[in-house]
Parts: sequence; structure tokens; C-alpha cells
Amino acid sequence: MRTFFEESRLEDEDILASSKAIRRCVHCGLCTATCPTYLLLRDERDSPRGRIYMMKSILEEDRAPTREEMKHVDRCLSCLSCTTTCPSGVDYRRLVDHMRSYMESHRSLWERLYRKTLWSVMTKAWRARCLFVLLRWGLGVLSFVPYLRLKTSRVRSLMPRWDLHPMASDVAGVFFAEGEKRGRVLLPRGCVQRVVGAQIHDRVLKLLTWQGFEVIVPEGGCCGALGHHMGYVNESRAEAEHQVRCLHEAEAKYGKVDAVLSHASGCGSVMKDYGALLGSEGGRDYGSRVEDVSFFLSKVGMRGRPRKSLAGMKVVYHAACSLQHGQGFGGVPPDVLSWTGAEVLEMKESHICCGSAGMYNVLQGEIADLLRERKRFYMSSSGGSCVVTGNIGCLLQLSGAEGSLPVCHVAELLYWSGFGERPYSFYSSGLSSKMS
Ligand code: SF4
Ligand code: SF4
Repeated sequence: MRTFFEESRLEDEDILASSKAIRRCVHCGLCTATCPTYLLLRDERDSPRGRIYMMKSILEEDRAPTREEMKHVDRCLSCLSCTTTCPSGVDYRRLVDHMRSYMESHRSLWERLYRKTLWSVMTKAWRARCLFVLLRWGLGVLSFVPYLRLKTSRVRSLMPRWDLHPMASDVAGVFFAEGEKRGRVLLPRGCVQRVVGAQIHDRVLKLLTWQGFEVIVPEGGCCGALGHHMGYVNESRAEAEHQVRCLHEAEAKYGKVDAVLSHASGCGSVMKDYGALLGSEGGRDYGSRVEDVSFFLSKVGMRGRPRKSLAGMKVVYHAACSLQHGQGFGGVPPDVLSWTGAEVLEMKESHICCGSAGMYNVLQGEIADLLRERKRFYMSSSGGSCVVTGNIGCLLQLSGAEGSLPVCHVAELLYWSGFGERPYSFYSSGLSSKMS
């Protein structure tokens, strides 16, 4: 596709990157076959190709996007399924990221306020905890009125069923390896996951030390992924810079860190991309060391044998988009799940997003619900008894429906099989009693 930017505008790095991305598009339309919003809505403007046309027109004319154009760009999940499919190598991520930050100043005051509040609550664990605790109480009261119960069913479906209290392991510091030491890793705690899935950090930390890794948990929270997803470039850069500083401080104090591990693939995808986000050597170095914890454990191999074999159990693997399309890890983490003895099944349509996508299921509830139902259908027809995933967003999005399969993090399953407590979601599903 040809672009028509004035030379002076191409001095802007973002415009240049977007122009390059647009120019690679040959309008073949192959990406439409794997775009979740196009599959659901069948509107060209909700396909990658249609969005590229719209973004090209807005950027070339350097104008405010119309309400319609904003609607169609906002409906994009940033799942990057189109990037995996595109034979021409269109860097859709750069383009849509640029457009999101471009659109931010053109939103209404109310929209800006709402989005900024959401971002500022979700990226600070203590604020998110207050919100979720209040929501839980409030929703409990509202559910006594049938009409309000129905109206709030979406929000209730996204609430975790377990405790929202912080866990004892949610502290910064150094955690020593058990037995012969195999290496040293950095494990950021994250932000909202510390509230809605505190057990994940706890399980990962215990697994890693049990497996012989010294774990450094730095101070600090959000990695910048949530803000990045919403178009807040400056805010996400500041958060990313903080993470890079944490790595440098950890190395100055404790010595060389072998890998930076992420236990939420949505975060990992952005952390891996710090080089592009920060445009600095520090960012590139950090990004090159980021690994998803399940693939890291697959790579280094699990030491020892599980205390509890899960032989006979069928586990369905849900590949988060941020892992398969964002980080290029398609398929199941090969060795780590089979180490438990469980049979690992892949889900049909595994390349299609479940609708979680950062804050998407809050901001675009209707489409997110349709995608969730589609995914739940494949979950229940998979023949498995539980679903495992590597991303907290997917975990919450797919959990909680009456009669649907329990969903847990890969680390929760490994921890249970290795030496610990079973995944929280198994208790409410009745699976724990069958497997005890
Ligand atoms: S597959 Fe790639 S080249 Fe083809 S229309 Fe989609 S983005 Fe453009
Ligand atoms: S990122 Fe996902 S939703 Fe957005 S255009 Fe690409 S495939 Fe469609």
C-alpha cells in the first residue's frame, strides 16, 4: 500500500514506523480469516486490513479520527493474530500502538477520565484491592434484587472466586535456592495480578526456589503493559524505566541475573518489547532477558519427580495471544506440563483470542462476552477436565461460569503436582475431590 506522508512528518519515529507497517500491506486479506472481531462482526472496518486503511487515512491527513473510526480501532483486541497470519510481515503492533496513543487526545473528557481512572486504579495493587473488595460487597448487596443481579452479571463473572488478601510471599527480597543452585532470576510481582491472582506469584516463587533458582523479587509494580494497551505511552515508558532500574540495582547488589521471568504473558509480551518502547540499550538488554516462566521451566527442565502424578488427568492448554502471537510461543510449553504426568490437549481455535486483552473485557464488554462464550464452547467440547493458561487476564475471563471447566495458571498445576496445594479453582468445581 502506498503512503503519502510529507518528508518532515517522517522525521517522527512513530510516523515512520507506521508508514513502514502500512507500506508492507498488500491488501491480500488473509489476516481477516484469523481476526476475532472480523469473524464475529463481518465488517471490513473490524478487520486488520480495514483498520490499516482507516489508520492510514487518519495519520496521512493528520486529523482527528471520527467517532466511527475510533469505535472500530477500539474494537481491536491487540491480540496480534493478524501479525502471525500476515505473509507480508506487516508490523501491526507498532501501527495500532501508535494509533491508540494518537487517539487518546481526541477522546471526550468523560472517556479520558474514565479510562485514566481505570488505569490508575488497576496499576496500583492497593487501589485495585480496595476496588475489588468494595465491588465484592456491593455486588453481594445488589444481587438480592433480581434485576440488578442480571445487570451486574458481567462484572460478577470477572470477579475471582477466591480470597483477595495479599499472601505472605508478596514481598520484595531475595529467596534462596533449595539444593544445588541452578541460577539466579528476577521475578517482578506485577500489579493487579497481586490482587486477583496472588497465588500465582506465590506458586511461581516456591516452584523456582524448589527447582534450584535464587529468586530476586524487586520493589515496584506495573511493568507498563496495561497503560501501553490503552495508549498511555509516557506512563508505560516511566514504568518500564523503573523495571530496568530494578534489574540494574539487583545486579549491582546480588550479581548477574540469568533471566527476567514473567508469570503473566500479557506483561511478558510488553516487557520483551522494552527495546522498542524505550529506544535505549537498557531497554533492549532487559527485553532480551525476559522469558515466560512456563517456557523457561520447559527450557531448563524440571528437576526431580512430582510428588503427585497427574496421570489419567486430561489438561487443556489455552495459549494466551500475548504468548503465541505477542511472544511467538505457539503450542503447549512442551515438557513442563507432561512432567506432571497429565495428558495435555490443545483446544480447537486456539489461535483466537478469548476476549480478555488487557482492559478489553471491561471496555468492550459485548464483544468480549461473545469471544468468551466461543472459547468456553471449545473448552467444554475438548474432553479435558481443566484448563491451564499462562495469563491472569485469560484465567479470569474464562473462569467462573456455572458448570464450565476450572481454569488455573500453569504454575498452579506444577506446584500441586510437585509438592503443594491444588489450584484454587479446583475447589469450587468439585475436581479436587475427584483427584485427591
Ligand atoms: S495479511 Fe497482511 S498484507 Fe494481507 S491484508 Fe492483512 S495485513 Fe495486509
Ligand atoms: S490485533 Fe487481533 S483484533 Fe486487532 S486487527 Fe489484529 S487480529 Fe484483529
